[in-house]
Amino acid sequence: MNILILGGGGREHALAWAVLQNPKCDKLIVAPGNAGIAAIADCADLDILNGAAVVNFCEENAIDFVIVGPEAPLAAGVADRLRDAGFLVFGPSEEAAKLEASKSFTKEICDAAKAPTAGYGHFTDAEAAKAYIREQGAPIVVKADGLAAGKGVIVAMDEDTALAAIDDMFGGEFGSAGAEVVIEEFMEGEEASYFILVDGETCLPIGTAQDHKRVGEGDTGLNTGGMGAYSPAPVLSDEIAEKAMEEIIKPTMKAMVDRGTPYQGVLYAGLMIKDGQPRLVEYNVRFGDPECQVLMLRLGAQALDLMQACAEGRLADAQVNWADDHAMTVVMAAKGYPGDYVKGSVIKGLDTLPETSSEMCFHAGTGEKDGQIIATGGRVLNVTARGATLKEAADRAYAMVDRIDWPEGFCRRDIGWRAL
Ligand code: ATP
Repeated sequence: MNILILGGGGREHALAWAVLQNPKCDKLIVAPGNAGIAAIADCADLDILNGAAVVNFCEENAIDFVIVGPEAPLAAGVADRLRDAGFLVFGPSEEAAKLEASKSFTKEICDAAKAPTAGYGHFTDAEAAKAYIREQGAPIVVKADGLAAGKGVIVAMDEDTALAAIDDMFGGEFGSAGAEVVIEEFMEGEEASYFILVDGETCLPIGTAQDHKRVGEGDTGLNTGGMGAYSPAPVLSDEIAEKAMEEIIKPTMKAMVDRGTPYQGVLYAGLMIKDGQPRLVEYNVRFGDPECQVLMLRLGAQALDLMQACAEGRLADAQVNWADDHAMTVVMAAKGYPGDYVKGSVIKGLDTLPETSSEMCFHAGTGEKDGQIIATGGRVLNVTARGATLKEAADRAYAMVDRIDWPEGFCRRDIGWRAL
């Protein structure tokens, strides 16, 4: 089978790694890829937001199966263009991708499905939004409706912050993403991520994870794209996961079928858990990054079979072969991230790292220059390991971190602290 993966971060390196474990894969191309991916697969320069260009590329390269990594091509309808042209694709249609691309859409689906989530109001007018905030009081959460790369959410602990967020959003700070806002009840609790494959009808859970959004140890400092993750997430016990499946996931997926836009792909549910009750914070329509890295290390070769079964609508007959294991990924970022950071610093020692079914250093933002690996982004490496316990996984991951010679980089030393 000839496979194309769209994307070029740590998530796609992990997907590529898992796909290559499976003997079914004859040829793998990743577009655009990165320096780590280039070491294991062909990388192609391709505009992955351009559906026609992706279709052409698939025809020219005799691609059998396309796996879409990030949300942007999904929201741009690239999966639809590919399916129209007869290609097998893992990833939802543009209409179904609204579960991530529009927060008000997700809220409406939750209403239709009676799924537990935060109470909310949806506004296209600043004065009405402010009146709602004054009526509800703080704490309260203000969200730009559209995609804003994780930056369009303000958790306001006081009313003034919430009102200022309305001015910013309607003032154009988030472009068209902020022309509509959703204002939500503040939910207390502990957050966890639940990953489910959905083939329209059937929902198959493939793991839980918890990530670390803040840049500093003890979950302090600025928000980031994620500084590390581990799987499974103990807070999402079997019982709570089952509750989330029956009360949130299945009813919302049925609501998608009922409106004629069934969901196909991986559904990433961000849940808030309090007193044993899960509530939906958000849906994403792709794997989390870096959560994908721990899931792929745990799933290995079967990940390809599962994604194929999902794309072909065969999940009812599929099953996950679980190992009783744990995995952790530690993100190494360029110093200064998530603020200003320098690009181009040289990373050494990567060739001394183990590459096994239990230890992999996935590349997120790297490039190659004069035969050396250099940092090209803020989040640069995802040092990932598996173990019989979370402690063992952590020890292995940090032992790899210590072998990486990159003075311009840093990581959090406390990934997994809640569970450890
Ligand atoms: P990302 O994709 O980076 O997680 P996003 O822009 O899609 O972000 P959300 O996930 O909806 O936004 O919100 C980001 C974070 O804000 C959540 O992970 C959660 O910590 C917090 N948050 C969002 N909604 C609420 C809420 N109603 N109550 C409490 N906290 C919330």
